[in-house]
Amino acid sequence: MMTDDLDALLQRLARQRFRARFHLRGRELETARTRGHDTMRRHAAELIERRLAPAEPTNDGRQTPYRGHPVFVAQHATATCCRTCLHRWHGIPPGRALDGAERARVVEAICRWIERECGRAGTAG
Ligand SMILES: [Zn+2]
Repeated sequence: MMTDDLDALLQRLARQRFRARFHLRGRELETARTRGHDTMRRHAAELIERRLAPAEPTNDGRQTPYRGHPVFVAQHATATCCRTCLHRWHGIPPGRALDGAERARVVEAICRWIERECGRAGTAG
């Protein structure tokens, strides 16, 4: 896993005005905290597998809702929401399925962001 590289990218993304708007709050924060990190990781893997990893994802560019699951919010914050963002920020070209290492990298980015949000937001949410 490219740990340092990924952390550096997450820091750059956090300075982007659009990405920085996204935080876990309310129901999504509650879900992340009560279900826990292992469950979030499993959900991230399942959602990425279905909605981002295929060579031609359905409705690419509009496949990631802005709310409803912590992973969706994390995808917008980490530029793993669609194949265009994945290409621009993570250097993963469109038009082919993600390989195992790329899937792992996307899931890792999402999970790190969610864990930070859970720590950041304090007990009041
Ligand atoms: Zn996108």
